[in-house]
Formats: sequence, structure tokens, C-alpha cells
Amino acid sequence: MPQPQIVWLRRDLRLADQAAFHAAARLGPVIPVYILDDETPAERRMGGASRWYLHQALSALEIELDHHELRLILRRGRADEVLGALVEETGAAGVHALRHYEPWWREAEERLAGKVDLTLHDGLYLLPPGSVVTGGGTPFKIFTPFMRALFAEIGEEEPLPVPDFSRPAKWPKSDRLEDLALLPTAPDWAEGMRQAWTAGSAAAQERFDSFLEVIDDYREDRELPSIDGSSRLSPQLHFGEVSPRQLWAQVAHNPGRGAGFFRAELAWRDYAANLVAQFPRYTEEPYRPGYDHRLWRDPLTDEEAAADLKAWQQGRTGYPIVDAGMRQLWQTGWMHNRVRMIAASFLVKHLLIDWRHGEEWFWDTLVDADHASNGTNWQWVSGTGVDSNMFVRIMAPLSQSEKFDAGDYIRHYVPELASLADPYVHDPEEAGCRPAAYPRKVIGHREARERALAAYRAISR
Ligand SMILES: Cc1cc2nc3c(=O)[nH]c(=O)nc-3n(C[C@H](O)[C@H](O)[C@H](O)COP(=O)(O)OP(=O)(O)OC[C@H]3O[C@@H](n4cnc5c(N)ncnc54)[C@H](O)[C@@H]3O)c2cc1C
Repeated sequence: MPQPQIVWLRRDLRLADQAAFHAAARLGPVIPVYILDDETPAERRMGGASRWYLHQALSALEIELDHHELRLILRRGRADEVLGALVEETGAAGVHALRHYEPWWREAEERLAGKVDLTLHDGLYLLPPGSVVTGGGTPFKIFTPFMRALFAEIGEEEPLPVPDFSRPAKWPKSDRLEDLALLPTAPDWAEGMRQAWTAGSAAAQERFDSFLEVIDDYREDRELPSIDGSSRLSPQLHFGEVSPRQLWAQVAHNPGRGAGFFRAELAWRDYAANLVAQFPRYTEEPYRPGYDHRLWRDPLTDEEAAADLKAWQQGRTGYPIVDAGMRQLWQTGWMHNRVRMIAASFLVKHLLIDWRHGEEWFWDTLVDADHASNGTNWQWVSGTGVDSNMFVRIMAPLSQSEKFDAGDYIRHYVPELASLADPYVHDPEEAGCRPAAYPRKVIGHREARERALAAYRAISR
């Protein structure tokens, strides 16, 4: 009997279109392994909402593997050390994994390569980050030319099927999923998430099938938070329960405009990973020079700024669209993309708080918290990234709320405002009908705008 092969799983929790499983299964019996590695830098340790989702995803994967008479071996510890020990214990000939791009995973891959026979495969993105480059061979900085080049290169390769597996004669011991302690206990804050999400590849496909029925309206409906108009597959894509290639292939023959726009969103995901591959500190510090501490009010030293940050986190800013978004995030672990932009812009420009505080909050509370996508989008909203400087453009949350027809969305997530009709629900304070239970605005729009522009002028001098 050939020696077994270990498949090291991280954000690639699926059997189909999973090149590591595919390659390992050809060579011998397969031992799938997930290691909860909390040795990553403290600020990059997986957040609470992601841990909750991960529990569901691993549970779904265990069931799927069981259909193939395979077990999922769960362990905790530093991934390279645990894998090194597992190779010895099982006599595995090698380890197969999908290549990851987070700095801590790159380091773990490097450390592991010196210890075991490690084979890395592509498959996290439509194309490997760093591979889509300009005619001159340099990486792209700006999205649209990047997307065009990606579309030109991607080709029609079909996603890989689920391979035929063989099993090892003896399985190594595994921790129980409960031992990973991924779920909240006291208090259990996950009820809203349980209602919102079903993890696993099968659920992802089911979700995508229903999205395909409305994809023709995607271009318009994805902007409307009251409508279920986008795929809502970001956690499944983040944890790799479905691959971007699988989604790409399923819309490739759809001639509608919606499909084109959906492919562009998948390209944003690749773009974010490319930016971080190109600028490894992109998620940690402003790309543009000059956006230093002088611009921001610091919640660590300034009590008012600390109170404003808290009001933002709790959805109590007095701006209904912002509050609805922040409460949706807290309850379900997800926020509508348009509202993410409004809420992020509000933190940075209205409250003049460094985007990294927002990035950190999203990192802890999003079920789709993604190192590259989160950091890149925060820099984009803040105007501190590779795009043109957008600091001077300040999003008006109240008119955005009306424009994107957020009345029902607000009424759903901000129960204090449930009885207000449009248009009052967008700005009850201005309309003179703010219920006592709903907070006043933490700052007026005009005042905030002037303060932000003044601060910006001061650092630009
Ligand atoms: C401040 C801010 C922070 C964000 N943080 C994250 C994050 O941590 N993780 C994350 O997956 N997305 C993040 N996004 C991007 C976007 O909001 C979500 O991907 C999207 O809302 C997910 O919903 P969906 O699956 O219905 O998207 P759809 O509209 O159905 O799009 C399909 C997929 O494309 C990808 N995608 C769409 N928009 C973007 C984008 N702007 N950037 C990168 N990928 C995109 C996602 O994987 C998404 O699931 C952030 C956006 C903002 C403004």
C-alpha cells in the first residue's frame, strides 16, 4: 500500500476544485488535517465571528468527508510543528496544501518546507496573486486595468471534480471539534449568526443556485441593502467552501450584464490579494505618505474619540443607515457592501478616526473577515491607498440612505425607528421625529465635513 499523503487545510475547506486533495489522492491514501494555529500575531488572530463560522465550516466538512469514509484530523498548535509531528506519526510521504498569501501563512509554509516534503498548489483565487502583470511585467496598482488583464488571462479551464479517495490503514488521533473552543459560551452572542448562515460546500452551492435566478438584476439590486440582491457567499469564499473558479465557471456562459458585474466583484477579491502580495504592509499602514497620527483623533488618548468609536461599534451614532449597518454586523456577522462603504467612510471622515480601528473591529465581527479584502477596502474608503486621494470626497450618509432606498433595512435593524415611514426614517432628527430611545447624532454632517477638511488641509500644508 502506498504511503499516505497529508492534506493541510486552512481557508480551502472543500473537496471539489481543491488541487491539494486532487494531487494527494492520486498518490496514496489521504489524511485531511486542520490545525487551529493561534501563533499568528495577536492582532491577526482569527476574530470571534470568524471562529464561530469556522466551527460550522469544519463540522460541515467532517460530514462531507464522512461520505467518502475519510476523517478530518483536528489539532491545535503551531502548524509547522504539528504537521512535522504528524508526518512522523503517520509515515506520510508528503504534505499537500493550497498556497496561502497571508504573511503568517507564508512564514509557516517556509518553515514547513525545511521539515517535510511540502507541495503547494494554486486555487485560492481566480489566478495566483502576482501572476497578472502589465505588459512591462510589473504588478498592477489600479483595479480596472488589473481586471481587464485578469479576464484576458483566465481561460476556460474547468474546475476540478471531487477525486476518488483511498484511506489510510490507521488514522491518527484527532481532537474533537468542541476541543477547539471556537464557539462563544458566556454570553452566547451567536443566535443571529445561526439564523443567518449555513456553512458547507453544499449550502454554498444551494445559495449560489438561488442567486443565479436573480443574477440578471445584480447590477442594480446589489446596491440596495433592503434587497437580498448579492450572492452573500463571502464567508464561503473566504473559508474556501466554494472556489472562485467554480463560481466563475457557472456564470461564464451567462450573457447577461449581471454575470459580468458579478465576475468583476470576484476580480476585486483577486485584486485585494494582489495588492497585499505586492505591498505586504498594505493592511497595516496607509499606503500614501502623510496620513499620520496628526490627522486622526486617537481613541486611546482622547475620551471623546473613544466614546465616538464605541457609538459607531454599537450602532448608536444617530445616523440610521450607519447604525443599521453596524447592528447588522453585530447580529449576523455580515454587512451589506454599500453600507460597509457608508459606515467605514463615516468612521474615518465624520469621526476622524484612523481606519485601522475600523479594520480591527471588522476583523473581529465579520464572518467573512479577510486579511486582504478588509485592509484593501478600508484603505480604499479612506483614500489612503493606491487609488486617487478620496479624502476630499466625503460621503453624505443621509442622502446615500435615501438614494439606496434603505428604509426597510433601517426599520429592520434599528427597532427604535420601526414605526417611522420614508422619508423620515433616514434622518429622524432633522425631521423632528426622533424617538427618545434613539440617540442624537454624534456630530452634524456639515460640522463633521468641515472638521475633516480642516484636518486634511492642516496635514497637507
Ligand atoms: C470597509 C470594507 C471592508 C470589507 N471587508 C471585507 C472582508 O473582510 N472580507 C470580504 O470578503 N469582503 C470585504 N469587503 C468587500 C465586500 O463588502 C464583501 O465582499 C461583500 O459585501 C460580500 O457580499 P456578497 O458575498 O453578497 O458579495 P457579492 O456582491 O455577491 O460579490 C461576490 C464576491 O466577490 C467578492 N467581493 C465583492 N466585493 C468585493 C470587494 N469590494 N473587495 C473584495 N472582494 C469583493 C466577495 O468574495 C464576494 O463574496 C469589505 C468592503 C468594505 C467597504
